[in-house]
Amino acid sequence: MRILLQFPEGLKQRALAHAEALEREGNEVFISASPTFGACDLALDEAKNIKADKLVHFGHGEFHHVDFNVEYVEYQIDAPLDLLQESLEQLRPFKTIGLSTTIQHVHQLEAVKAFFEQNGKSVVIGRPYGFAKKPGQILGCDMGSSASIDKSVDAHVYFGGGLFHPLGALLATAKPFLVIEPFAGKIEFIDRYREIYKKRSRGKILGSLEATRFGILVSTKNGQHNMNLGKLMKSKLEQNGLKAEILVANTFDFTSINNMMEFDAFVNTACPRIAIDDTDRLRKPLLSANELMEVIRMKSELASARV
Ligand code: SF4
Repeated sequence: MRILLQFPEGLKQRALAHAEALEREGNEVFISASPTFGACDLALDEAKNIKADKLVHFGHGEFHHVDFNVEYVEYQIDAPLDLLQESLEQLRPFKTIGLSTTIQHVHQLEAVKAFFEQNGKSVVIGRPYGFAKKPGQILGCDMGSSASIDKSVDAHVYFGGGLFHPLGALLATAKPFLVIEPFAGKIEFIDRYREIYKKRSRGKILGSLEATRFGILVSTKNGQHNMNLGKLMKSKLEQNGLKAEILVANTFDFTSINNMMEFDAFVNTACPRIAIDDTDRLRKPLLSANELMEVIRMKSELASARV
């Protein structure tokens, strides 16, 4: 069988061993060297171009159904649980806590839950939601598991590496949010980011009020492609007397976007995290669809006030 292997950045170091194992079984194996951001980003074009019979995607569960033979190989990573004891002090004021994590540690959530329950907490784990398939699992673009239990908990606890995933969940919830990073040995409340991101969003909206020419980013990645939203945004802008063009790419390169100096602002329809996390990499404002609607609303209010 001809197989294309695809690894996210953190697992690319293991590509050779997996390729050799499959070759020993008699397969013809290729490895995708493209950047990979999630299961939204399947290397289907590469697989089809090399006439692969199968794409093996490592590190993520299925995001959405595609018309190709894809095998998902989830990677479970056992993180040390010793920081949990230390987190009890920070969690002292909270009786009921909600747990979340990523696909790599979701198999450990029951052990984390048992620890907190043995130490007098009530623990809630949100059901699988949207693109996430396991209880308590969150993705960078799907924090429904945390958001759905926000009203039932006094605080949220994310157990896992990095701030990318918990930041999304933080913005979708209102309760105190503790992050336990078992490999980095860090425990911190990240609530301050709610205000920081709110101010950043306000700044982008206000910075776009004079914009007249908008570039709308539409990705060709299979799980991020949203041409309908791109066209809707373009028509909304044009109905309001503004210029708009749709910019298409697989992975958006911020240097290239910065080179498009005729545009006054950009609108994201691809991975929703681009308009949250990557705004500092562009010289012009990069708006989400919701932020664009707010810009249009404020622009029309300003225009009426001037009449
Ligand atoms: S957060 Fe972005 S990169 Fe990650 S799965 Fe969602 S759309 Fe893909």
